Amino acid sequence: MTRRTDWAASDIKELKEAGRYVPIRTIESPQGAWVKIEGKKYLNMCSNNYLGLANHPEVKKAAVSAIEAYGVGAGAVRSIAGTDTVHINLEKKIAEFKHMESSLVFQGGLLANAGAIPVLVGKDDVVFSEELNHASIIDGVRLSSARRVVFRHMDMDDLRTKMKESRHEGKKALIITDGVFSMDGDIAPLDEITEIGEEFDAMVYVDDAHGEGVLGKNGRGIVDHFGLSSRVDVEMGTFSKALGSMGGFVAGNADLIDLMKQRARPFLFSSGLNPGDAAAVLRSIEIMSEDDSLLRKLWSNSDRLKKGLQEAGYNTGSSKTPITPVIIGDEKKTLELSSTLFREHALFASPIVFPTVAKGVARIRLMPSAVHSENDIETSIDAFRKAGRALKVL
Ligand SMILES: *Cc1c(COP(=O)(O)O)cnc(C)c1O
Repeated sequence: MTRRTDWAASDIKELKEAGRYVPIRTIESPQGAWVKIEGKKYLNMCSNNYLGLANHPEVKKAAVSAIEAYGVGAGAVRSIAGTDTVHINLEKKIAEFKHMESSLVFQGGLLANAGAIPVLVGKDDVVFSEELNHASIIDGVRLSSARRVVFRHMDMDDLRTKMKESRHEGKKALIITDGVFSMDGDIAPLDEITEIGEEFDAMVYVDDAHGEGVLGKNGRGIVDHFGLSSRVDVEMGTFSKALGSMGGFVAGNADLIDLMKQRARPFLFSSGLNPGDAAAVLRSIEIMSEDDSLLRKLWSNSDRLKKGLQEAGYNTGSSKTPITPVIIGDEKKTLELSSTLFREHALFASPIVFPTVAKGVARIRLMPSAVHSENDIETSIDAFRKAGRALKVL
């Protein structure tokens, strides 16, 4: 019997033939330097748990206490009956940490982008969007119905040219960019972007998902890294990476945040972040503010990893952050290398292929963290050297 959904099986077959079908592993332990998969321990080199806060004892304790005090769920959309004291405390904490007037918490980073962008711009406006922006920005811009102009990756001459050509096509204008690009680890020139925004009267919005906990003093992020504080209009971020938990936020001036509470659809039509998650994030920010030893460990591990892989003969691209792409190019070779590392070296490092990155630049993206030991880093380099030789990618 044929079913109306049989096309799914043939799509899967096509993906497998093209080397673009990515197996999804199940983790049977907490996130950390090592994880358990199918009963066996693997060196984990692909989580975004930069500072190890996902399984930090104090962060877990804060979540448990909040569950005791507020229960497991927010119970409703925040504007109806789902705003808890922990949400308000967290929003104050983020604004203070980011040196912004105000902030608003969402249930995820993707939802923060989907919610905030359509509040900032609409059909009479124009968005200047970086070529390599994250999918959630692209979706947010689509939802806004604003006219979209894409500028080339890291190319400020191109941004200027497109501003001159198209700024007048929108009443309001917004320049939107990832802070740290998640697949390459390079850093947007936010100082120049800010200048261009000022010159052409365009708002500037930065998605700092991979800058939080990684760049700036105590991990305050990219705006602090460039010392731009009050000059960037909107800072958006996630709690799911360095901050170790779940959720997202937007920070900006008080009126803007007030308006988001009236208009952002994921805020108005989806229930609030779980209290335990909110409390975990609050504690993570406190830990980061009190002590930068995790941040320093993250960077020393990442410097060593990059150097070791380069010495082994790998191309680690243009990364300026702990994100360490090992660029192989060919999709099938990349999948093969990843599976050899997994099977023969107990190293867990996921392949990243089209459409997450362009065709022909397939890679394994390594994410060192503060909870990896020096030995873990050396083990990774060694595994890559051996597997790379065996598969003749070196
Ligand atoms: C991961 C990521 C997001 C989404 O964040 P979640 O909180 O996981 O939904 C948004 N933007 C960028 C640049 C990201 O890397």
